[in-house]
Amino acid sequence: MDHIEILKNLVSLDTSVPPGNNYAETVNYLEPLFQQVGFQTRKIDIPPAFAAGREGRVALLCHRQDESQPRLLFYGHIDVVPAQGWDAFQPRIENGKMYGRGAADMKGSIPALLLALDRFKDQPLKYNTSVMITTDEEISQADQLRYLRQFLEPVKGAYFFDLDSNFGYVAIANLGLVQLDILVKGKSVHSGLSNLGENAVEKASLLLDALMKLKHKVSRRKSKVLTHPDTGIKKMVARLNLNMIQGGLKVNIIPDQCRISIDRRLIPEENVADARKEILDVLSSVRDVKWEIASEFIIPTVPPLDDPIIDKLEDILHQVIGVRGKYGEMGSGDLSNIVGNEWGGKQFGMGVIRTECNIHGNDEFVYLKDIEDLAEIIYRFLL
Ligand SMILES: [Zn+2]
Repeated sequence: MDHIEILKNLVSLDTSVPPGNNYAETVNYLEPLFQQVGFQTRKIDIPPAFAAGREGRVALLCHRQDESQPRLLFYGHIDVVPAQGWDAFQPRIENGKMYGRGAADMKGSIPALLLALDRFKDQPLKYNTSVMITTDEEISQADQLRYLRQFLEPVKGAYFFDLDSNFGYVAIANLGLVQLDILVKGKSVHSGLSNLGENAVEKASLLLDALMKLKHKVSRRKSKVLTHPDTGIKKMVARLNLNMIQGGLKVNIIPDQCRISIDRRLIPEENVADARKEILDVLSSVRDVKWEIASEFIIPTVPPLDDPIIDKLEDILHQVIGVRGKYGEMGSGDLSNIVGNEWGGKQFGMGVIRTECNIHGNDEFVYLKDIEDLAEIIYRFLL
């Protein structure tokens, strides 16, 4: 197993989504590698109905099953966000780092896993182990995960080791998410006759004022779950951000539409129904503004994982790199909700991402040492 060669090959395969390039090629490349480390593999074509109508979605599932042992599933994804303005798919190594799109998020975790599993090729594993390599994580994969469940049983009570995670601590919680697009309605007329129209942009500004007041209230809500010091905050914090507004056609036309996009992140102690209602109550309290919900996207919260396996992994982390820590992530994803709320599984994470790795940005890189350390951590975890 040459982890550097494997990562180079993975990064060279441009798996940008959208649109979702080279998924089959990447799965075909990985399949024999998992067979080499003693796993039975199965490629699963995802029906478009479970991939928001998109074609060509595929997952690679790998098993070394022993039903007498506790169930453990490793999770990963091969897709990456698109790149522009740098040689993102021509991996280069410099000063112990490999640069390339996806090097840290999260192709670099795959060779780490393979290195660890390779050491067990000829000996039994202490877990009833499967690996799920998925696609479309960077857009939305909830239905794909739901489809894959039938090939992954048993999942209830199972441990899910999320390799799409940061390096240097155990991830034990995520933020929930409520994204709302609010369409404010007005009436379009010539600017000189604004008395006859209704200005949707100006009306929207009334809603924005009210939402800013809510933002200040929300951002005082702190979780009891700690976050990594790199985040600049001590504990997980609730968020309400107004990240997009769109409205108006021309400077001399009273606009008849304005769209406000609200991004609300929830600490584990909150729940999506209350958070959604809180926003809608604030919007409804503003008089003389006509609006409707144009779209919404929700990821329910999951309580932070409290399980002896977390302490075990933290101890191993300490043995290998001399650092300990278990923190909540200031991000949201489909996996935690599906595993925690729908499957009754126990999810935690460790991968090769660091703040400085610039994931989703230009010159993304991964430390090769982190890949080797993660491999060692996984190896000891499986012992
Ligand atoms: Zn990722």
